[in-house]
Amino acid sequence: MLTRRAPRARSAGERPVESPAAVRRIAALLRRGTFNVVLTGAGVSTESGLPDFRSNAGLWRGIDPARVASLSAFHRDPQAFYAFYQTRLAALAGAAPNAAHRAIAGLEALGAVHLVVTQNVDGLHQRAGSRDVVEVHGNLREARCAGCGSLRPIAEMAGPLRSGTLPRCAACGGLLRPNVVLFEELLPAAAYDRAASACGTCRVLLVVGSSLAVYPVAGLPALAARRGASLVIVNREPTPLDGQAEVVVRDDAGAALSRIADEVASEPN
Ligand code: NAD
Repeated sequence: MLTRRAPRARSAGERPVESPAAVRRIAALLRRGTFNVVLTGAGVSTESGLPDFRSNAGLWRGIDPARVASLSAFHRDPQAFYAFYQTRLAALAGAAPNAAHRAIAGLEALGAVHLVVTQNVDGLHQRAGSRDVVEVHGNLREARCAGCGSLRPIAEMAGPLRSGTLPRCAACGGLLRPNVVLFEELLPAAAYDRAASACGTCRVLLVVGSSLAVYPVAGLPALAARRGASLVIVNREPTPLDGQAEVVVRDDAGAALSRIADEVASEPN
């Protein structure tokens, strides 16, 4: 029988635990856990063709986020701001859920995952079939009026942008913007509170495809570990929280999550 061990620091250069032992161990943790949360970042969607932010091919390679994705950029240089989001919307229009999204939805169907907390705004978890998803950085399905705050379908913003005009709110004439959290903005309180409460009470926190570099979400895995949850990290590159994880899988999210879901399915609860 597997036992949880206390978090410990991993020394530099030490190899993380890798599959298939890691996969069996993660599956056992998920089968046993009564409240398991998955926390995802941009890395869960790269295999859908959507670039992440901080990798070599990421969105911030050669672009200063403060210039195109901040609240002050929206006010100071709306053309640059909208050009950046037009590119993201165009990429999303051609994107579909990948094996990682499907495996996470499959784990929920098996009763081995109970909540998804995502930093992503692409809606691919829901399209893959995940039913309970907390979007802590907002979403790209909706536009929000910077004037009156009303929410509109994103098409009302995307259409005018394609024809080279500024997107305006039909109700008040204010500028429409994507309903995502921009740099310099706070996270939506209800979503963040639910995410923090879940991470503070879960038995297993499975972090997938996040550099864990952006706070406050990057603080959630440490909170979970402090409260006794088993922390599992699946990421192509090292993260600052690897030393606190019970299991680290350094692999592509699609392959790793598929193996984990298959292992859980082979011996469900
Ligand atoms: P990130 O780009 O910082 O990290 C992605 C991680 O996933 C990397 O460590 C990378 O190695 C890994 N990865 C990439 N592809 C992978 C794959 N196929 N399998 C496994 N691992 C893979 O993204 P993040 O952690 O999500 O943090 C950035 C967050 O900052 C975003 O979620 C974004 O919402 C947020 N943010 C964005 C804005 C904005 O765009 N306006 C503003 C504020 C915050």
